[in-house]
Amino acid sequence: MPDKTASGRGPAVPSGLMVKCPTCGETLYSKQLEENLFVCPHCDHHGKVPGRKRVNQLADEGSFVEYDDELRSVDPLGFVDRKPYAKRLEAAVKKTGEGEAVICGLGELDGLPVSLAVMDFMFIGGSMGSVVGEKITRAMERALAKKRAMVMVCTSGGARMQEGILSLMQMAKTSAACARLREAGLPYLVVLTDPTTAGVMASYAQLGDVHVAEPGALMGFTGARVIEQTIKQKLPPGFQSSEFQLEHGFVDLICHRHQLKATLARLLRLLGVED
Ligand SMILES: [Zn+2]
Repeated sequence: MPDKTASGRGPAVPSGLMVKCPTCGETLYSKQLEENLFVCPHCDHHGKVPGRKRVNQLADEGSFVEYDDELRSVDPLGFVDRKPYAKRLEAAVKKTGEGEAVICGLGELDGLPVSLAVMDFMFIGGSMGSVVGEKITRAMERALAKKRAMVMVCTSGGARMQEGILSLMQMAKTSAACARLREAGLPYLVVLTDPTTAGVMASYAQLGDVHVAEPGALMGFTGARVIEQTIKQKLPPGFQSSEFQLEHGFVDLICHRHQLKATLARLLRLLGVED
């Protein structure tokens, strides 16, 4: 059935063809936006990148071999909020075409061998349940086994509440894996993208050797209102942005997405990774 406009006159623009930039309000062609790595060509707003596209932005063409794609979350608590967790998982798989909120594998980045993990915000807000934690831990263990550097691209609303304490345990598990990378002297680069918060920010997203952030990304442990209520102090504006975190030492550098791959490659080479 052909698309119709609301008034019923003539064909409408198929949904998804055009998008509006949330920062400058400019209407953009989705394809044009994607070609520009999901960065608004008018105002440089760094939009969210689907995990699979991010893998393609960073891994050299044809080099990425995915691992643990078959791992699927279960519903250990029989959790129901607005809808049952099992249904939520099913919907997320259908929407994203991914099995979980992180994609992990081995690949090359500008010719450098890496273990790569990329989170996908479109999959239940990039939340970390047991499978996300397990996949990331395995990606780090793969780095250890192959003596490769680890590159982690983060975006997450935090631990996945639908798995309760099992999600929180992933913070300890992934953090322990980060420590093993450090003991082995293997570089671990973290890319902080919009948004990276809560249990993820409080574990592997803050344990890298170098923290690279994208411009204007939101990052932090919890929301500004909750912090203000807890410490009973007004917080400075924009205190959870990449720029503020850079000024205060939590972020090492801010990198435009167009330069991200080249910057990561340069950092890896500086840290001793060889082709
Ligand atoms: Zn814009």
